[in-house]
Amino acid sequence: MLDFDSAQTRLSTAGKPPAITEVCPLHQAAGRVLAQTLFATLDLPPADNSAMDGYAIRHADYAPGRPLPVQQRCYAGERPEALEPGHAIRLFTGSLVPAGADTIVMQEDGVENDDRFEISRPPVLGAHVRLQGEDVREGDQLLAKGTRLGAAEIALLASQGYAQLTVYAPLRVGILTTGDELVSPGQPRADEHIYNSNGPMLAALVEQMGASVAHVLHARDTRESLQEAFAILLRDCDLVLTVGGVSVGEKDLVKPTIEQLGGVLDLWRVCMKPGKPVALAHIDGKPVVCLPGNPVSAYAVFALLVTPLLRSMQGRTQVMPAVQYGILASDRVFNEKRDDFLRVQASFEPQGQTTLTPYGQQGSGIISSLPWASGLARIPANTAMRNGDTVAYYDLARWLA
Ligand code: AMP
Ligand code: MG
Repeated sequence: MLDFDSAQTRLSTAGKPPAITEVCPLHQAAGRVLAQTLFATLDLPPADNSAMDGYAIRHADYAPGRPLPVQQRCYAGERPEALEPGHAIRLFTGSLVPAGADTIVMQEDGVENDDRFEISRPPVLGAHVRLQGEDVREGDQLLAKGTRLGAAEIALLASQGYAQLTVYAPLRVGILTTGDELVSPGQPRADEHIYNSNGPMLAALVEQMGASVAHVLHARDTRESLQEAFAILLRDCDLVLTVGGVSVGEKDLVKPTIEQLGGVLDLWRVCMKPGKPVALAHIDGKPVVCLPGNPVSAYAVFALLVTPLLRSMQGRTQVMPAVQYGILASDRVFNEKRDDFLRVQASFEPQGQTTLTPYGQQGSGIISSLPWASGLARIPANTAMRNGDTVAYYDLARWLA
């Protein structure tokens, strides 16, 4: 059996980074991956400006009880005159600081009467001035190639005037569910049927990661049906995910079908629970990952083993999110022959620790644990872990992003 960490590493390097780039408007860039490293084209702020509604003065002009004549009122978006000695210029947040001024007095620290500003509290030299370049310097690296863009990155790029970006073409992912017992939600269901939850689940997971779902197909448990689906998926997708039909039952035909298509299938029994059977093949150079059929197993395997591969194929440089740690909170003792990934809810305690409470039922068929869980707690193989023990925690908000 292959240990979990080796399986994760092997899968993460099983694909190629994207070859195609495209230009995307900034306002449509959320979720896309930068294909170029971007640098600052200007200082931020571009010029000294006021952090407050107040008055620009020369600090040396301050004397207690001496009002300063207000020379000009300069709103944000206007250009101030140079400050004359012994004067003040009325400014607002974002107004440029006039030449000759070195200090802003906030309006609450004085009174304006008859166009004269009297300061009631001794000002601090340089106060409330946002200095040119204090945030970003022209020429600084803003974001590296391989960064996934979110609102924060888009804000930074907008502040630098970038209106369009070179990004990677979206990764096209194909999903294939298998099984004669499955019917789609919305279809009539007989007693012997269950609804297909993996298809919609995987499509949502792939989209959530910023990749594009090219197809969600379903095959019956026959070679013909599987071949037909594979032909479409291999034609249209960069990465194929299959789910179910990959263990050792006589209706588990995914493996022989892949071999028939010329794929070499590396089937691993990964030392993890839920999840055990996971397979990787390449057909015509395209990676195909076969996930276990149980929805909880498919979810966990996708989060922990497939997402690093998917991120690397999206061109992202951060492919392995950080693993965190927390304290197990449970009456039960956990001890399995494989690394056990418990569905847990993390809570952050006032003393600063994170406690991890497992869902009551941990079976790989328990779909109700999925919306409940915030992450997965790892119980190492053949190790008894109980209440109060520190365990590794895989936060799904990070692992599924
Ligand atoms: P398999 O690996 O095909 O034997 O599937 C293992 C278990 O997962 C069986 O109980 C299947 O019915 C179930 N399963 C497989 N695929 C799906 C799916 N797409 N949605 C819900 N359950 C599934
Ligand atoms: Mg099946």
